[in-house]
Amino acid sequence: MARKSRKLVVVSNRGPYRHEASRGRERWVRAAGGLVAALDPVLQRRGGVWVSAKQAKDFDSVTIPAPHLDYDLAHVSLKRGDQRGFYEGVSNAVLWPLLHGFEPTIQVGEAPWSSYLDVNQQFTDTALSTSGPGDLFWIQDYHLMLVPALLRAKRPKARIGWFCHIPWPPPDTFGILPWREEILEGLLGADVLGFHLPEYADHFLQCVERFTTYPVTRGAVDYRNRKVTTIAAPIGIPVEELQALAIDPDVLREVERIKHTMGNRQIILGVDRLDYTKGIPDRLAAFERLLKKEKTARARYALIQVMVPSRTDVKAYSDLKDEIDRMVGDINGRYADTGRVPIHYLYRNLSQRALFAHYRAADVALVTPLRDGMNLVAHEYAAARTDDDGVLVLSEFAGAAKYLKGAVLVNPYDVESTASAIHRALTMRQSEKKERMRALRAEVMRLDVHRWADDYIRALEGGT
Ligand code: UDP
Repeated sequence: MARKSRKLVVVSNRGPYRHEASRGRERWVRAAGGLVAALDPVLQRRGGVWVSAKQAKDFDSVTIPAPHLDYDLAHVSLKRGDQRGFYEGVSNAVLWPLLHGFEPTIQVGEAPWSSYLDVNQQFTDTALSTSGPGDLFWIQDYHLMLVPALLRAKRPKARIGWFCHIPWPPPDTFGILPWREEILEGLLGADVLGFHLPEYADHFLQCVERFTTYPVTRGAVDYRNRKVTTIAAPIGIPVEELQALAIDPDVLREVERIKHTMGNRQIILGVDRLDYTKGIPDRLAAFERLLKKEKTARARYALIQVMVPSRTDVKAYSDLKDEIDRMVGDINGRYADTGRVPIHYLYRNLSQRALFAHYRAADVALVTPLRDGMNLVAHEYAAARTDDDGVLVLSEFAGAAKYLKGAVLVNPYDVESTASAIHRALTMRQSEKKERMRALRAEVMRLDVHRWADDYIRALEGGT
């Protein structure tokens, strides 16, 4: 495979694979999440190195060329205290809710900022030691917002990019952060700052105008004799590979099994990491509303909710899990018939094959986050529907809503109208479904992840 001359150095908190060895058998596990789903195929195609935090069960060495990978992995070994301070304390308890605009959830209090600084330095050191002059650095997400400036201090001429996989809020929300200036200075070490939506990039520039003295002109910041450009680069999925998976004979057999298990009922599907931004309780409430409103609903419809365990050590997440468990139990207790429950609840990470079988079996996909940078489940559902069937019900607060025009848009806070939208999707005429799904699929193809990466890397190399 031809390689580009400039090595790509991707830096992110979470790596793409976890290695497990037990009873003499080895296994690599791919991590769930949009970032990995998007960047793994890019590096597989182009080569390079992926720098990430070492997971507890990884090999005890620094760089591991995994046999089936076409790129290198380099690991940063975080101390237990850093895991708590940098990851749980600052990244999860402050930056995640802040950037999603969940102001009451932000716990600035005693947040260990020094740990965030420290860990950003460790990532920078590893990125420097696995690269040479002329390589391209592509830093990912909100865990590593100081890395661009730290890298710049050591490699003044390097090309450095950063991509924000989540939303960026307006200055009034961002301004809550005690370290707002430090974060902006950290990011301005980059040449290119990427966001999913023009709206997020605008918010970032408004923050620069409000909290620094650097001039902003036409989407860029004049920063100490350098220009820092912002771009809107909506992420997508590897469409071709995933379409092929959706029509794999094993997957299609699994589709039949799922449909058979659900009896004659139409299937509504939710797939989310367990997170308060995903709006799972509101969605369950909307489904319950539908069961209550439509007399025949319990005989005709079933909800399959896949929930991937996430940040299980954080209290807000375990509390949310308890709330969802209670709601599911309550709704099932109230609306089940012998041998038939309305909600099938899978609390685990499904394989990609199993996931695509579920997409293909679902009459309606419910993607209803309260706020989401993009949401790749929405893209994947459309990619899976090569049969032009199925309806996507999508929150207007997901970045995807700005692009995926064939979806039925809902306000997930409005339980009543979400319930009506689900019902409308379940009873939609075949011709309308087909028309919408075709429009959706065309958009998803346009937003292919390989194009996303090529466009971003071109901008990073200075080509645009
Ligand atoms: N996913 C998975 N297994 C599951 C559920 C989800 O691999 O059981 C993947 C899914 O294919 C998607 C990603 O997790 O690519 C979720 O990405 P999204 O952007 O929707 O949300 P995020 O988790 O990044 O907030």
